[in-house]
Amino acid sequence: MIAANTPFKSGNQLSARSVTIWRVVQFVVWLVGLAIFLSLIYFPSIGLLVFWNILIPIAPALFVVAAGLWRNVCPIAITNLLPRHFDLSLKMKISVRTQAKLQLVSILVLYAVVPLRHAIFNNDGMATAWLLFIAVTVGFSMGFVYDWKSGWCSTLCPVHPVEKLYGGNTLISMPNAHCGECVNCSVPCPDSTPNMHPAMATKTVYHKISGILTIGGLPGFIWGWFHVPDNNSTVSLSQFFGTYELPLLGCLVTLIIYLIWDKVLAEKDRPKLIAVFAAAGVSCYYWYRIPALLGFGKFAEDGVLINLKNILPEWSIILMIISTTIFFFSWFLLRKPNSKSWVVRPKFAWK
Ligand code: SF4
Repeated sequence: MIAANTPFKSGNQLSARSVTIWRVVQFVVWLVGLAIFLSLIYFPSIGLLVFWNILIPIAPALFVVAAGLWRNVCPIAITNLLPRHFDLSLKMKISVRTQAKLQLVSILVLYAVVPLRHAIFNNDGMATAWLLFIAVTVGFSMGFVYDWKSGWCSTLCPVHPVEKLYGGNTLISMPNAHCGECVNCSVPCPDSTPNMHPAMATKTVYHKISGILTIGGLPGFIWGWFHVPDNNSTVSLSQFFGTYELPLLGCLVTLIIYLIWDKVLAEKDRPKLIAVFAAAGVSCYYWYRIPALLGFGKFAEDGVLINLKNILPEWSIILMIISTTIFFFSWFLLRKPNSKSWVVRPKFAWK
């Protein structure tokens, strides 16, 4: 897992010791990812619990506070970037227009796949393993052909729109533990651009549509998603399509609200509007997810990590979700944009 073209330089480059530490951390996290993947196949109840009820619930908060940490250690990203680390990638450049098209595909895939958690993935370890396998296969192939993160992490990965919406005012800039030198593969580079958000790139109509769909649609989509129960038996066709109704309806409602406010407000107020929608999205997520994890969810059996229904008083749950909501709204609306990027850009390859 040590990069064949590892930089051992000064400035923004990692020292040899830092590179070694990051490679060890990446290898350990990658092994954890592999263990989760195998447990989804061989011990599905454990795999499903760890993947959907531990790893995924941590992710949104991590994107808010330190998206760069996740970008450095995501096991799928590590796998997909192996061809580049070992100098096996064709290192092709993707045009800005094509990158924008891939980003639009990524948000559409997110909206298409996440509702299927209720119909299939939440209760089916093998199906979830297939989902991850497909993601890794597509990402690895893109990493084999295109340079650094341009083929997956910064374009096609369906988690990337969420990173961009929530990661707009990160706490810390991490070192870039992947790119040896910057070859400007992604424009704008989401990792290296301070206070990145989904509406930052406006060069093509695809940029604009994916930005609007992400910012406007995500809060309502999340609200709708939490109002659909999991299916524990064979899914009929109407149940299958039924899982889309509320998420897409919620998505449409908040999208319209966003578009109206975007028209009404002055250009200079747009960052605040995006911050409100980011805060609404992540707060809504934990508003429903925390009770569900602790056995207080709308649907008693769904998404439970540990059932504390008979131990914790109801008010403690209310306190938790009010606290997280206050925290996220304060995070996005009270903190000034701090001009920090998720990771520090390494020196350019041609300098
Ligand atoms: S830092 Fe440079 S090489 Fe790395 S992903 Fe960003 S643009 Fe690409």
